[in-house]
Amino acid sequence: MTTPDYDVAIIGYGPVGAALANLLGMSGLKVAILEREPSLYHMPRAVSLDGEGMRLFQTIGLAETLLPKLNTSRNIRHVNTEGKLLVLISRGGIGPDGWNHAYRFFQPELEGVLREGAARFSNVDVKLRSDVFALDEHDDHVQVRYEYLGKGELNALTASYVVGCDGARSTVRRFMAAALQDLRSHERWIVLDMILDSPPAGVPEAADGSGQIVDAIQYCDPARPTTFIPMPGKRHRWEFMMMPGDDPVKIVQPDSIYNLLKPWQIEPAKSQIERAVVYTFHSSLATKWRRGRLLLAGDSAHQMPPFLGQGMGSGLRDTINLAWKLRDVVQGRAPDTLLDSYETERMEHVRAYIQLAVELGGVIQATDPEKARKRDAELLVNPTMIKPLAPRLGPGLHGFAAAPAGTRAEQPKLANGERMDDRAGYRFAVLAAPDFAAALPPATRTTLNNLDAAVIAADGEASAYLASLNTRAVVVRPDRHILGVASTAGELDLILAKVPLLATSTAAPRPVANF
Ligand SMILES: Cc1cc2nc3c(=O)[nH]c(=O)nc-3n(C[C@H](O)[C@H](O)[C@H](O)COP(=O)(O)OP(=O)(O)OC[C@H]3O[C@@H](n4cnc5c(N)ncnc54)[C@H](O)[C@@H]3O)c2cc1C
Repeated sequence: MTTPDYDVAIIGYGPVGAALANLLGMSGLKVAILEREPSLYHMPRAVSLDGEGMRLFQTIGLAETLLPKLNTSRNIRHVNTEGKLLVLISRGGIGPDGWNHAYRFFQPELEGVLREGAARFSNVDVKLRSDVFALDEHDDHVQVRYEYLGKGELNALTASYVVGCDGARSTVRRFMAAALQDLRSHERWIVLDMILDSPPAGVPEAADGSGQIVDAIQYCDPARPTTFIPMPGKRHRWEFMMMPGDDPVKIVQPDSIYNLLKPWQIEPAKSQIERAVVYTFHSSLATKWRRGRLLLAGDSAHQMPPFLGQGMGSGLRDTINLAWKLRDVVQGRAPDTLLDSYETERMEHVRAYIQLAVELGGVIQATDPEKARKRDAELLVNPTMIKPLAPRLGPGLHGFAAAPAGTRAEQPKLANGERMDDRAGYRFAVLAAPDFAAALPPATRTTLNNLDAAVIAADGEASAYLASLNTRAVVVRPDRHILGVASTAGELDLILAKVPLLATSTAAPRPVANF
C-alpha cells in the first residue's frame, strides 16, 4: 500500500484550479498544483462574476481583498441596429446571495487574489512550469508524471485524487477517456481589450443617471454582431463576431481595430490596444466528470459562449461542490461514493447555463438580414427580460425531494449583522427557528456533531428567510445549496440521513478557517 505524497493534485492553475486550491487548502488537505506556465496568464478572458461567485470568495476569506478591484454591473442590453431594446439581462442591485447580482473584473487581478490566497496555506505546494503528460491510476493512488520545463526534467508525484482544472484541451479528460458532447455552437469572435483615456462616445443607453457607463450593450446587428462591456478603471472590452471574408490575421491589426471602433469615436492617440485576438466560442460538455480517482472541473468539463458571462462562474461552482466532498472522503468522514454525486449534481446544473447561452447566441448571432428583421419584429413588441438563472442541482444528495431541496440557499444576515455563511463556515448548517434549535433531540445533535454541522438560530433577516420557505429548519450544504427543509425533528433526521457518513469515522475535527 502506497501513502500518496498528496491528498489531491490539481492540474492547472487557472481561476478554477486556484479556487479549488483555496478551498482544499483551508480544509487542511495536502495539495499539489501543477501548472505548465511560469506565471498567471496576463490577459483577460472572463470579465463578469456573479453574486454566487462572490460568495465563494467570501467562503475562502478573499471577498474583501477582491472587492476594491471590481466594479458593479447593472444590465446587459441587447439592442437592434436602431438601438431599440430586444432583450434585457437585468443584474442590478443586491441579490439573494447577499452580494451584488454581478460584478466586472480584470481577470489577471482576480487570479492574483486567488493565488495570493492559496499562498496562505503551507499545505498547498505550487509547481509552476510543470507540464503533466501522464497519469497512472492505481488502487489507492494516482501517479502524476510531469516535465519540469525549467530544466527539461521528468518528475513524478503521487496523490489520492487528481482534479483536472486544465482547461478546454484537458489532458486529464483524455486520460479519463471522457468524450465531449458537442452542444453545437462554435463561432469565431474578435476579443478586444482597450485602455481608454476617457469613456467612449456613442453609448448613452449604457449610462446611469449621472452619466457613468454601467450597462453592457449587445449590438444585435446582422452586419456584425458586437458586444461592448465597461470594465474597472480605464479598461473596456469589445467583442466583434467574425464575418465571412474577414482575415483572422489582418482583422486584429491596429488599422482594422480602429476601423471597427469608428462608431465609438476612439482616437488612437488617446487609447491603447491591450489585446486583440480571435477566439472560437465553443459549447460542449464532458460526458464523464469522474473516473475513479480522476475528476474534472471548469473548462475541462464544460465550455459555453460568453453571452451570459458564466463560463468561469460555472467552474467556481464546480469547486465549491467538489472540495467539501474530497475533504470528507480524504479525512475518512464519508465513503468514496460521495464523489459520484459531484458529476450528477453539477452536470445538469451547468447544462442549463450552456443551453441558455447557446439560445441567446442564436438571437445575437443572427447574420441573415431577413431572419434578423423577423427577430426584431417579434422582440420589439415584447422585449425578453432574462433574470439571473438559478437552476436546481441535478440528481444527487437531495434524491427525489421536491424544491427547495437542490436549489441555492439565500444568504440572509443574522440580527447581529453577521452574514449566514460566515457563521456556518465551509460546512453543513442547520438554520432553524430559535425554539426548534433549542429543542433538538440528543440523537439529532449526535448526527449533527458527526457531520460537523453548525446550528444557527434564525434571527434578523434569517428569520424572514425561514418564513419565506414556510418551514422551521433548512439544511444548507457547504456549497450553499439546500439539502432539505424540515418542520419536525423527525423530518430533520431524515434529511441529514441523506449525507453518506462512515459509521467508523476517525476524522479529526475540521480546521476552522478564521479569516
Ligand atoms: C472572450 C471570453 C470571455 C469570457 N467571459 C467570461 C465571463 O465574463 N465570465 C465568466 O465566468 N467566464 C467567461 N469566460 C470563460 C472563462 O474565461 C473560462 O471559463 C475560465 O477562464 C476557465 O478557467 P479554467 O481555470 O477552467 O481554465 P483555464 O483558465 O483555461 O486554465 C487552465 C490552466 O491549465 C493549464 N494546463 C493545461 N494543461 C496542462 C498540463 N497538461 N499540465 C499543466 N498545466 C496545464 C493551463 O496552462 C492553464 O493555466 C470567457 C471566455 C472568453 C474566451
